[in-house]
Amino acid sequence: MKQYSHAWLAFMAIKRLEDAELAKADEAYAASLIKWFKDYKDGVIQGAWYPDMIIKDMATSHVLKFTPVKDGSKGSFKKLPDTYFLCRHCKNSPLKNCSYTVDKDNNLTDRCESIAHSVVDNLKMQTSEEKGSPIAPNNNHIATILFMLSHYVADAHVPFHCDSRRFSEGKNIHGKLEDVWDDEIKKYFLLDKSNERFFYNPQGYPLLDKGKETLYKDSFLKKVEENLSKRDFSDSFGTDNKNVWDFMSAICQHSYLLSYMFIPEGNDHTNVTTANWKTLGAISLEDLSIAVLCDAIDSIAKVYFRIWRRYKKWEK
Ligand SMILES: [Zn+2]
Repeated sequence: MKQYSHAWLAFMAIKRLEDAELAKADEAYAASLIKWFKDYKDGVIQGAWYPDMIIKDMATSHVLKFTPVKDGSKGSFKKLPDTYFLCRHCKNSPLKNCSYTVDKDNNLTDRCESIAHSVVDNLKMQTSEEKGSPIAPNNNHIATILFMLSHYVADAHVPFHCDSRRFSEGKNIHGKLEDVWDDEIKKYFLLDKSNERFFYNPQGYPLLDKGKETLYKDSFLKKVEENLSKRDFSDSFGTDNKNVWDFMSAICQHSYLLSYMFIPEGNDHTNVTTANWKTLGAISLEDLSIAVLCDAIDSIAKVYFRIWRRYKKWEK
């Protein structure tokens, strides 16, 4: 995913928490996270892009790439919450009936789990250290790690990050797909480019360009917002998924299935063209985009909320 998509998704995840109907105790946890995020929101565009711009672990930590194995053995797939588009679209995927291999050295799930721990660890250290202590992490530092976490969580939802076919080669439809999302965000939301941040609406979220409000009604971004407003928020990672690692494994497995729904078997970077890539599969580009972006926002909200609550419960 590209820079503005990553930042926009992190903001939308916080908005999702702000709009959610939560139990009383959870409401307080969410409120403190929302306030904290908004205090540091000018760093989101940079922080959520840090993994691509500075760390550059794209080939290993931004991906978990699957290859189907056609030897008659059945694949094992973790469950997702049934509200997820990934779950609904992939229910009847024929690839569910066959096993798979995962590319060597791919570790997106480990990366998400470890950064989630790192956020909580740093918050705990900060609470325990005296002001001015040389080992106390500062808020800007922790915010950057939190924004980085949303990057890796979002990448798990990108179908081509979970598919071993080489779609960055040939006509680079991997890049083209991500451009579709980034271009749409840049088209409708106002960017303060010289300060590397969005302009904000009164609630503190990316500001929609007033002159484009009518057009926005037909944008898939608007449909993402509408779909999420109808989806109840829950902190569940899905049955039997106990931690961020399990949850991200389930996401990546389903992203792989979704990738094959969009670009069916028999196609790869050698035969997919700029003319046919959007229409080869059983799912349209718009439905794929809505699924990826909705589920990514929901997942970032869940992960953020659960790690923040873990820290807050410890603090008591
Ligand atoms: Zn990435």
